[in-house]
Amino acid sequence: MGSNGQTGAGSGAHRVVIIGAGFGGLFAARRLKGELVTVTVIDRTTHHLFAPLLYQVATGILSEGEIAPPTRDVLRHQSNATVLLGEVTDVDLDAHTVTSRAGTRELTTPYDSLIVAAGAETSYFGHDEIARHAPSLKDIDDALEVRGRIFGAFEMAELDEDPTARGLWMTFVVVGAGATGVELAGQIAELSRNTLKSNFRRIDPANARIVLIDSGPRILGQFHERLAHRAAERLRRLGVEIELGIRVAAIDEGGVDLIAADGTASRIKARTKVWAAGVQASPLAAVLADASGVALGHGGRLPVNADCSVPGHPEVFVVGDMMELDGLGGVAEVALQSGRHAARQIVRRLGGEVVPEPFHYRDLGSLASISKSFAVAELGPMRMAGRSAWLLWLFVHLASLTGFKNRITTVFHWALSFLGHGRAERTITLRQVLARQLPASAEAEPRS
Ligand SMILES: Cc1cc2nc3c(=O)[nH]c(=O)nc-3n(C[C@H](O)[C@H](O)[C@H](O)COP(=O)(O)OP(=O)(O)OC[C@H]3O[C@@H](n4cnc5c(N)ncnc54)[C@H](O)[C@@H]3O)c2cc1C
Repeated sequence: MGSNGQTGAGSGAHRVVIIGAGFGGLFAARRLKGELVTVTVIDRTTHHLFAPLLYQVATGILSEGEIAPPTRDVLRHQSNATVLLGEVTDVDLDAHTVTSRAGTRELTTPYDSLIVAAGAETSYFGHDEIARHAPSLKDIDDALEVRGRIFGAFEMAELDEDPTARGLWMTFVVVGAGATGVELAGQIAELSRNTLKSNFRRIDPANARIVLIDSGPRILGQFHERLAHRAAERLRRLGVEIELGIRVAAIDEGGVDLIAADGTASRIKARTKVWAAGVQASPLAAVLADASGVALGHGGRLPVNADCSVPGHPEVFVVGDMMELDGLGGVAEVALQSGRHAARQIVRRLGGEVVPEPFHYRDLGSLASISKSFAVAELGPMRMAGRSAWLLWLFVHLASLTGFKNRITTVFHWALSFLGHGRAERTITLRQVLARQLPASAEAEPRS
């Protein structure tokens, strides 16, 4: 790195810069292993996050390390790859540079080819004030905060003498009944009914009320109706209340205000709320849209050419949750396949191929785990619900985790949770729970 804050990504070799070390970015970087290029991966975190298992960190089954290995460790044997910490704030499409910031340090990284894989963020549909009362489940910070709020709520209920106040602590509302919301609600139900049994003296955790709400007509909108129906049955058997066709009007410390399709207003009193309802593309999509003159698409995504490149900028690719292409959804397989595809286009071009290849997505199916021994799986025309789908779910997720050590400890923690009812990761800290509540000025103030 130069003293002027410029990274010198290689001498003479074609410089590929990758923004984001998630599914798109990491698989693009790996595809470039052994190629005659230098690869610089810039990410605002130090880890590669396996987001599909965030809900298990939030409910004490897995540790954060198991689903988020350090990116530089993952790429340690790839000698042409360099990993840099930094939040990318700008991309200059004319100068071919990326600007990033880490603390007070600003870096400018030049590129010959650029792959942008910065993913998506939570959308509160214009009501960001909700975040204070209903954290989402998008990163490790969120998962640890949600874990603290869930286990902390039982602790507070144990302290409260007043039955109404206790009821408030023991009511959990999950907003959004896609895979994340469904999996989280199922796990809160299981831990309250099983894991916490005999842990308290003044409350019975099994009396916890868990409500899953969605504005749509059914849960698991991306799955076939029959599977969604089986999943809903299972959740109800676990004691999860499912409220559909109902919209959130407001969320405050004491509960959630709702409006039904016919305009009827209602309120669920609850201390613990989790938002699993909406996503929007990284703000970097808007930066690229401004710079390239391409209009942003649905959910703030950037429409790309068939080969995932930005119109007018064949050297820049946008992949994963940030790209808009053929109506593809925000799932891990789309991200990793499009990341690999972009990397392959760079290698082909360097080899003298001039005609770009269009990206063809290979749909490997969808899985969602509802509870211990019960999942739903959709693999092309094949649909499964129950134990066999759950075993498939276990196998696919274990195989997809990055890192050998993580897999070993994950198997151990799953055995603890799924053979018995134990959860190894129940540690919570007040700072995790309260950090979001602090005014920004308090965070900035130096300690005396
Ligand atoms: C809770 C949850 C559960 C999910 N469950 C499933 C599932 O079961 N199955 C499935 O297929 N998909 C699931 N998904 C979706 C899947 O995780 C995403 O589709 C996938 O991660 C998208 O990959 P990506 O590379 O586009 O973005 P990501 O994997 O999100 O990676 C983006 C990376 O960019 C970094 N970044 C962002 N902005 C900047 C910046 N300005 N500067 C530097 N770095 C930046 C981030 O730190 C991150 O490392 C789930 C997502 C979540 C949140």
